[in-house]
Amino acid sequence: MNSLPIIDLHSHSQKSDGRESVRQVFETAVRSGVSVLALTDHDTTSGWAEAYEIAAELGIGFVPGIEVTTRAEVRNARGEPIHLSTHMLAYLPDGDDLALQTALKISIESRVIRLREITERIAADYDVRWSDVIEGLPEGATMGRPAVADALIAKGHFADRTEVFEKIFYKGNPYYVPTSGVPDTLDAIKLIRQAGGVPVIAHPLARGKGPAEGQPMPIEHFEQMIAAGLGGFEVMHRDVPEHARVWLRGLAEKHDLIITGSSDYHGEHGKPNRLGENSTSVAMLERILAQAKGAQAFLPKPLN
Ligand code: AMP
Ligand code: FE
Ligand code: FE
Ligand code: ZN
Repeated sequence: MNSLPIIDLHSHSQKSDGRESVRQVFETAVRSGVSVLALTDHDTTSGWAEAYEIAAELGIGFVPGIEVTTRAEVRNARGEPIHLSTHMLAYLPDGDDLALQTALKISIESRVIRLREITERIAADYDVRWSDVIEGLPEGATMGRPAVADALIAKGHFADRTEVFEKIFYKGNPYYVPTSGVPDTLDAIKLIRQAGGVPVIAHPLARGKGPAEGQPMPIEHFEQMIAAGLGGFEVMHRDVPEHARVWLRGLAEKHDLIITGSSDYHGEHGKPNRLGENSTSVAMLERILAQAKGAQAFLPKPLN
């Protein structure tokens, strides 16, 4: 018996848009056979303190992380400016870093304004109010569109989040309001490095967001991110299509970058993603740990 440990470096709790408490996420991880779990709530470190305690109690490894929403203006193949939203996983940054926390605070405040606007637009067609969204939200959670989805579900308009995303939040929907107040992608990479963290792109070039197979890949933007200090790519994620994986692996090899695999768990009824469905190798986790100069990971057992 010498099976490989399951190292899952992407999960969400009720500190953002996950459906489970921090404790429940870690308990589910133990049940799923996960050895090391990163908690990466959107734009917040508020789950970390509890996660350290629970991980120690349960004897499971814990890597503190954040999934930072970022935005970049790039040019498409025709030279027109377009906005790309990149979710940047930040592993082991110093949780007390003032510049990083300031950027996160501005992002969270901007989310509230954006989601209120989205809710008002939806309220023209569905019986739902902003107060319904607020009431359903766990205390201190980073809001995202899933919070609006939950209010619509509670009102009986839809069965689950997946249905809401298909029917209301599809690409080009009339309720859409762009994100604002989030850091520029290259600035975020530098901010995370300055805080001692390791930036890894979450679900890069995800299905429906990145170029389709045969279309040109955004090489210039990726090389800019790498030059800014990008650490790696979350290649093994259910939303990253095969042609993107091949391209990302090639780029990682060329620039000696880290490759991770993770679930992006959001709880039982959050998303279909299951804890441990993808795993990061011990060697890649060791590279993240070696580069990190901010927070400490909790690893109760040797990795091998
Ligand atoms: P926002 O933060 O407002 O941009 O909303 C995006 C969030 O919605 C992401 O963090 C995802 O976790 C979540 N999400 C995206 N697609 C789906 C889906 N099909 N079902 C449930 N949650 C989703
Ligand atoms: Fe999410
Ligand atoms: Fe994400
Ligand atoms: Zn995520």
